[in-house]
Amino acid sequence: MTRKMQAAQVERFGQPLVLKELDIPTPGAGQILVKTEACGVCHTDLHAAGGDWPLKPTLPFTPGHEGIGIVTALGAGVTGVREGDRVGVPWLYSACGHCEFCLAAQEPVCGKAQFGGYTKNGGFAEYIVADPNYVARIPAGLAARDAAPLICAGITSYKGLKETQVRPGQWVVISGIGGLGHLGVQYAKAMGLHVCAVDIDDRKLEHARRLGANAAVNARTGDPVAAVRKITDGGAHGVLITAPSLPAFKQGVGMTRKHGTCVLVGIPPGDFPTPLFDLVANCITIRGSFVGNRRDMAEALAFAAAGMVKADIEMQPLSAINAVFERLAQGEVPSRVVLDFAD
Ligand code: NAD
Ligand code: ZN
Ligand code: ZN
Repeated sequence: MTRKMQAAQVERFGQPLVLKELDIPTPGAGQILVKTEACGVCHTDLHAAGGDWPLKPTLPFTPGHEGIGIVTALGAGVTGVREGDRVGVPWLYSACGHCEFCLAAQEPVCGKAQFGGYTKNGGFAEYIVADPNYVARIPAGLAARDAAPLICAGITSYKGLKETQVRPGQWVVISGIGGLGHLGVQYAKAMGLHVCAVDIDDRKLEHARRLGANAAVNARTGDPVAAVRKITDGGAHGVLITAPSLPAFKQGVGMTRKHGTCVLVGIPPGDFPTPLFDLVANCITIRGSFVGNRRDMAEALAFAAAGMVKADIEMQPLSAINAVFERLAQGEVPSRVVLDFAD
């Protein structure tokens, strides 16, 4: 008899996930089977379940791209990973390895890239099939639950900060202090940056302060652009927008200093107005940033292994996923929920 596993799947966009028993998958040639220990819940999972983006996943599918677990089986020909290794199955599930982008270590934009919990079944399940060439290697001493948020929220905020090109001693704004942003504050402090946190929830801003933010601005009160420009004496050298909310994007551009860079990582559906004259006359760069490459992953995890970054997590069982989604959509998750698969 085939062995079964618990999984939460999206059967229809915008509907609650369905908890079901599925066959435990068998890894094919070149694949591995990972027994899930923990999986973070990212706001991207909400966008996926909502069918928010132009490229939609095929229904039904299992979300989750912050799954950490132990390798329990190897398909034919797998050599780089061993049974018993702890790995993470990230958003960048796989890429072709030989296009111009892969050759330049820009594999997240590979035209043949597959996405965990989106075009491939992800970590809201007791087992995940993964590509051993693209799994995250979890450093010894880092618990699965602590590693989970790092393989999406961590790498994305870390890479986004690098993409701002802000140097130590300069100002960076982090807009949105949720899963990505609360880690972004910690990476930014570890990099020696001055941090101005922006959110619409005073509790998130107090949390940012506890994590080392030098200043905090509530985007719902007064004129947040003017407030940031005053604090930073003319605008931040870099801005990282993680907020899943369109108004944050125009504001973030306005918070950017002359010759500064505004990095976009939040992906609410839709477009935002860009003030063309101000952009041109102030030589401002607006740049998208999509997770990070495998080197960025190793670096982002190394900060945590060295004790410089730690995700704030709330553990929940897989069966609570719909309530967690509801709270995440309302902004009621303090930092990151991690689904607990420990027996
Ligand atoms: P989250 O829900 O944990 O956090 C979002 C935070 O933004 C919350 O603290 C919320 O209060 C705040 N916020 C909402 N509206 C705001 C506004 N107008 N101004 C400032 N702050 C505001 O979400 P998350 O898991 O951190 O994900 C954030 C976004 O990043 C999502 O859109 C997600 O899809 C995207 N994302 C992108 C990448 C990438 O590679 N580019 C990777 C991961 C996630
Ligand atoms: Zn994510
Ligand atoms: Zn490629």
